Amino acid sequence: MLRHAWHKGAVRRQQEEPLTANFPIDLATALWLGFTGACIGSFLNVVAYRMPLGMSIVWKPSHCPRCQHTIRARDNVPVLGWLWLRGKCRDCAEPISPRYAIVEAMMGAAFFVLAYVELFSGGANLPGGPILPWTGALDNVWNPLWPVIGVYAYHCTLLSFLMCVALIDQDRRRVPLRLLLFAGVVAICCAATFEFLYPLRGWTGLSSNVQAIVDAGVGAFTASLFGLTIVLLGATALRLSEQAKRHVHATNCGTAIAGGFLGLKAALVLWLLWGIGVAVVRLRNKKPERQYLSILWPLWFASLGLVLFWQQIADFLPL
Ligand SMILES: [Zn+2]
Repeated sequence: MLRHAWHKGAVRRQQEEPLTANFPIDLATALWLGFTGACIGSFLNVVAYRMPLGMSIVWKPSHCPRCQHTIRARDNVPVLGWLWLRGKCRDCAEPISPRYAIVEAMMGAAFFVLAYVELFSGGANLPGGPILPWTGALDNVWNPLWPVIGVYAYHCTLLSFLMCVALIDQDRRRVPLRLLLFAGVVAICCAATFEFLYPLRGWTGLSSNVQAIVDAGVGAFTASLFGLTIVLLGATALRLSEQAKRHVHATNCGTAIAGGFLGLKAALVLWLLWGIGVAVVRLRNKKPERQYLSILWPLWFASLGLVLFWQQIADFLPL
């Protein structure tokens, strides 16, 4: 069924000779995608800060919160800008949190690794993959195979949404409803249009177009229930203060987005991986009051890990 979805792309390529694998072009393409990821990370830092405060995301350029000077374009380069400023504002020497650079580096690294594992391999990481036999950047990106590029972009979008929710939760702010709605609309539209984005189908016996939407909806719902369970098992939510409610809400948003983007079966696996991640964070973070660490960070890593090793995980678990 999966191969059927890529049929059009495959037929188009049938007469074409595969281009020879080219290491420099692969590396250059992956670095370019990684840089794009870092820029998106930089943008997410801004979104996560401004959106819960109701500020405009695009209208005002980035500025120093203390001296109000606009950040110069050359200092705004992801990761590198922070490094050559040595973490201080150029005008008033106010320290800039390393978090900005870390988020940019995380997004850049995720886009870079995913480029090799998913995009250049023709989807070899997906259950039932590789979906198309062509490998390398030349054959997948520069001679575009849209289904493979689509899956890559889809998973990068998921990681961007999760990063944004995790950052907002880390700041102990409330995740705006419009962010959740926006992510939901993206997931449902993608599910309705490109059914092949869900390589691992749920158990419903529906026609594939309908099932993709059901997968997204059921995945989102189940995952958010799981999210609720994990939060309630954790100590923070037992005293349901305003703050704890905000964390529960953020966790629900994050898990619903992940479930909606990945589908029901993937949500079940994700829950398992994430549970392990949360346990590790709880064990390592002995004083959660002093240094709060959002449990959405393990969810971000679990989602990346699931996408990277999806085929191996699906083979290993009896789903
Ligand atoms: Zn300043």
